[in-house]
Amino acid sequence: MKNQSKKSKSKQPRTEMPRGLYFHVPFCLRKCPYCDFYSVAYAKQATEEYVRAVVRNLHAVGTGELIDTVYFGGGTPSLLCPEQVKDILAETGKAFTLTDPEVTLEVNPAAHRELADYCAAGVNRFSVGVQSLIPKELSLLGRLHDAAEAEQTVREAVRTGARVSCDMMIGLAGQRQADLLYTAERLLKLGAKHLSAYLLKIEPTTPFSTREFSTVSQDEDGQATLYEVLCDFMCRQGLRHYEISNYAVPGEESRHNLKYWQCGEYYGIGPGAHSFVDGCRFAAPKDLSVFLQREQQEKIVLETQVNSAQEYLLLGLRLDKGICFTELQQLGLDAGNLKKLARKFETAGLVRGFPEGFALTERGFLVSNAVISRCLEAVEAL
Ligand code: SF4
Repeated sequence: MKNQSKKSKSKQPRTEMPRGLYFHVPFCLRKCPYCDFYSVAYAKQATEEYVRAVVRNLHAVGTGELIDTVYFGGGTPSLLCPEQVKDILAETGKAFTLTDPEVTLEVNPAAHRELADYCAAGVNRFSVGVQSLIPKELSLLGRLHDAAEAEQTVREAVRTGARVSCDMMIGLAGQRQADLLYTAERLLKLGAKHLSAYLLKIEPTTPFSTREFSTVSQDEDGQATLYEVLCDFMCRQGLRHYEISNYAVPGEESRHNLKYWQCGEYYGIGPGAHSFVDGCRFAAPKDLSVFLQREQQEKIVLETQVNSAQEYLLLGLRLDKGICFTELQQLGLDAGNLKKLARKFETAGLVRGFPEGFALTERGFLVSNAVISRCLEAVEAL
């Protein structure tokens, strides 16, 4: 582990795309039993120290380069008050060049404030952690908000004129197709133009992995059916299923998240935040007190020489536009074996081929881990 030094400041991203900036805001009112993101209990004073540490780090890594997406994720970023978000964005503007940035703030319906004040601070996109509008599902998930509060937050977010995305959960025990579609339809009616729908996954270190919660999730078949029902519904509503778990009215896709999936680079600030700079992936330790104490956040190097071709396959196949054989060739690979494999998957209904490349189908998205690892093996075998 070593501190990022000013000497190693990067001037140019490797891709044509400007880099993004991610802030991990590690505070929550209460830990949800399924969540393994790094967070600690909210304390006002700690948020003040956190903002000071973020500003130190911004100036330590800031190069003046162009940044076109900023994302406040967590944790619960809406536990920072609008003034704190404004201070961070003002310092971001001094450390980097912000040109027409997409600025997203994750909002927890149980911890929302006056959302218009965040817009005045520079936020132009909200991601609301709704999860469900069905009371028994919210209670199963141990969420602090109820359906009425979630609806009110979405309504208020839409009213600000900002772009609005909502998170939904698929595959909870007892979740019926009608329940899932009720939540999706209601959120769209309220004005959300982007939905992220995640299959409930039991993470090993969370309370949901214990025996007490052994029945919270549906089995694989149940989850698969719900996933397909939702895909079909979203498609009929005119939303583009542009990534495995993400749907958007065309033009409303998340620019920041697309950067991740298109192998773009980004800076990450905050405990547990990941960065991808100059082809190197690294993370800050998941420890708020270390983050607050240090002049500059430590970096744990995860990967020094990212394999661009592998990354392109791994991430590109998450997207509806898939991958292109010419791009693979430009990354130095002969795609011959992959083309043969893609034809086999096409026969099985898992991919759809087009002259320049291929993409996963909805069924392929459901088994994406297996399909993508077979594709990676085919490339490695060359
Ligand atoms: S799901 Fe969101 S609110 Fe709940 S513990 Fe995780 S980060 Fe915090």
